[in-house]
Amino acid sequence: MITEDQALARILESVWPLPARSVSLNEARERFAARDVLARVALPVFDNSAMDGYAVVASACTEGKSQRVIGEQPAGIDRGLRIEAGEAVRIFTGAPIPAGADAVVMQEDVRAEGSEIFVNTTVEPGEFIRRRGCDLTEGQKILEAGACIRPQTLALMASQGFADIEIGGAVRATIVSTGDELVPPGGTLGPGQIFESNSVLLRALLEKYGVAEAEILHCPDDASSIEAALRKGLEGDVVIVIGGVSVGAHDLVKPALNAVGAQTDLWRVLVKPGKPFLFGRAGQCSIFGLPGNPVSAFVTFLLFVRPAILRLMGAADHQLSLPQTDAILADELANDGDRPHYVRGQLAAGRFSPVGRQESHALYGLSRANALLRLPAGETFRSGDRIPVLPLD
Ligand code: AMP
Ligand code: MG
Repeated sequence: MITEDQALARILESVWPLPARSVSLNEARERFAARDVLARVALPVFDNSAMDGYAVVASACTEGKSQRVIGEQPAGIDRGLRIEAGEAVRIFTGAPIPAGADAVVMQEDVRAEGSEIFVNTTVEPGEFIRRRGCDLTEGQKILEAGACIRPQTLALMASQGFADIEIGGAVRATIVSTGDELVPPGGTLGPGQIFESNSVLLRALLEKYGVAEAEILHCPDDASSIEAALRKGLEGDVVIVIGGVSVGAHDLVKPALNAVGAQTDLWRVLVKPGKPFLFGRAGQCSIFGLPGNPVSAFVTFLLFVRPAILRLMGAADHQLSLPQTDAILADELANDGDRPHYVRGQLAAGRFSPVGRQESHALYGLSRANALLRLPAGETFRSGDRIPVLPLD
């Protein structure tokens, strides 16, 4: 059996970014930039006032001395005003600084009498002026290929006048759920049946990581229907098959992959839960076989599917690993098995406490977890240890 790292390396070796596309800024949040972007507009765009007040010549503003107000400069228009020492222009936040002025005095520091003002404070040159280009100059890099696009990034792109942005390609995914025992939510359970929950889980995870639409196909444990679903899914970029990848007589996914001409690159990984995980390919399509137990499906999705879809979407390599933080362990945890164990827990105020049953079917515990702890094979972590954890939210 191979390690998680070996499995992930094998998967990432065969997954490449999809062709880029241009979308409006509104559609780009949490997607990945397809190329570097350089500033084409300086920020601020021109010298402007940081306050409502008066533009003045600082050296002429000795305390108590009057300044003659020669005009008004609002935001949104440049009136081309010019002042000499001893003169002032009424000015508003964001308005261009009149020629000759080298400072703005806040209106709170001024007494106005008709067309004169008296400054009640000392005025330093440059005060309350936002200089052109002090934040950003033309040609400066504002976005790197592979970076995640955040609301702040979008605002910066808009400030440059860009209405669109080039992002990585859209992943077309299909989820194939398998199992005779599965009934869709909303249906009625017969004896020996359970409600199907993994496709909902996986669709939500795909959506969370940027795959907007995933088709879901349900199959009984029947070779021909699994093959038909796989054939349909192989037209896209990613197929996720859930269940049927173990070694039981009803585990039909591996033979079905063979039958549709897909190759299995790896099967079974040293990870708990999730050992029966499978990865294969058919042409440009990546195929992930996830074990049916919900916690196994969840963990293997995060470990192996998430990085692959992020790479397909054009994420830079440093974006592929799950965010990690340090926490203090609240309980002793031992792993006497031969696989690293992803323990589900609650992370609160810097402390990690295991939550619920730690078995691969225990969906309720998973639903209450907001972090995972990777407990290496053969290790014991003691209460009070500082340990790295993987926050989920
Ligand atoms: P399998 O991997 O097909 O052997 O399934 C392992 C366990 O997961 C069994 O208890 C299945 O009933 C359960 N299971 C498989 N697929 C799903 C699913 N889509 N939703 C909920 N449970 C599932
Ligand atoms: Mg099954």
